[in-house]
Amino acid sequence: MTSLATPFNDGLHAGVVRYQRCAACGQAQTLARYACQRCGHEDLRWHDAAGTATVRAATVVARAPSEDFRALAPYTLVIVQLDEGPRLMGHAAAGVQIGERVCAAFFEHLGRPLLHFVPAT
Ligand SMILES: [Zn+2]
Repeated sequence: MTSLATPFNDGLHAGVVRYQRCAACGQAQTLARYACQRCGHEDLRWHDAAGTATVRAATVVARAPSEDFRALAPYTLVIVQLDEGPRLMGHAAAGVQIGERVCAAFFEHLGRPLLHFVPAT
């Protein structure tokens, strides 16, 4: 099924983080949207991110919100800012700190890839 987020999800399967950039004003954004958050233009192009980012927020989830994630708990979630600008959420290695440089990695869970950030080397 093709949805607005298909290019992003296809990227996860290929081991790539993708984001949208507005062809009119250059604004970069995640998640997938129909229009630019800044100028409202609808000509959004998908780009591959380098996968490097800075941690902006981090938390440890002790009680998973659903049965699907119970086996992973406790696990770390982060909001990172990609070097290209937009922010997004993902899993992360335990112990990552706000301000730390990380890079995107991926792991399979229940048959689908999850975004997982690890300290940049
Ligand atoms: Zn724009």
